Amino acid sequence: MKHVKCEICGSDDSKPFCSAKCPDGPVRENFVINKCEICGFVFVNPRPDKDEMKPFYFDEYYGKPSWIMKRVSNSAVSFFSFLRKRRIHKYKKAGKILDIGCGDGTFLNYMRACDWKVFGVETSESGCGRCEKKKINVSKDITFQSEYFDIITLWQSLEHMENPFGVLKEIHKVLAEDGVLIISAPNINSMEYAIFDRFWFHLDLPRHLHHFSGATLKKLLQKSGFKVLETEHCSFEYNPYGLMQTIMNTFTPEFNFFYKFAKRNKTQGKKFILNMAVTLPALIVFAIPAFFVSYIFSFFKRGGVIHVYAKKNS
Ligand SMILES: [Zn+2]
Repeated sequence: MKHVKCEICGSDDSKPFCSAKCPDGPVRENFVINKCEICGFVFVNPRPDKDEMKPFYFDEYYGKPSWIMKRVSNSAVSFFSFLRKRRIHKYKKAGKILDIGCGDGTFLNYMRACDWKVFGVETSESGCGRCEKKKINVSKDITFQSEYFDIITLWQSLEHMENPFGVLKEIHKVLAEDGVLIISAPNINSMEYAIFDRFWFHLDLPRHLHHFSGATLKKLLQKSGFKVLETEHCSFEYNPYGLMQTIMNTFTPEFNFFYKFAKRNKTQGKKFILNMAVTLPALIVFAIPAFFVSYIFSFFKRGGVIHVYAKKNS
């Protein structure tokens, strides 16, 4: 474990903000997130070093759905890719796109079919392998020629990175002068966190090393040479499900049970029938209310995730 300073202002003065166990990792200890006394940024401190972090990114973490869930989720994933494309097309209709933390390349595959020239950055071996099978140009770091990309996206990946300031500086180099950066990240200023605290689906310690709000992400972007164009709070892709899983985490014996069942086809196995018996009725009862309530939270800028659009200050 190592101690770190605030990524935004460099201060060493941070106080404990919350603590929680990893929902599925190899250790059962509590991880602590601190809040910077100077700028209000929230981050895991102390945190596992690079080697200590590896066991938290086990194979199934990247998704291995059963064939039934695959059929159900394929259409959902295509729809979510369509929603992402709509966000991008507000600014650019064609060109070169880089997706950082591209996973198995599903989103880039969709964008390629829409005539975009696609590139990915992914650090996991399994993700890279799946991208290569789709013949997607994928690399492990951001080494491209200067001002190459029209659009750069990070969908729920910046919060995982050890050094988001360094990553944003790399992005600044490879984004075109009139290019647009789109970041989707969990919102620590959400009502979900305020109400449910350690049960929040997006807390995900210690993998989510940094917890942004609209204000702190804006500060980090400004420090990295970007200007925020727009911040969106509504997300059909992330908010209704995130709220529903957060609610279910308060009473299912296994944390994130439905998420693990749907995405990874691997739960902890203990009390499977009991978990499923509680989860299925809860899905029926909470699905529609979670949909509406998540939109009410978003309306008040307190939704589970934020989408920030930025361009270079140049
Ligand atoms: Zn700070």
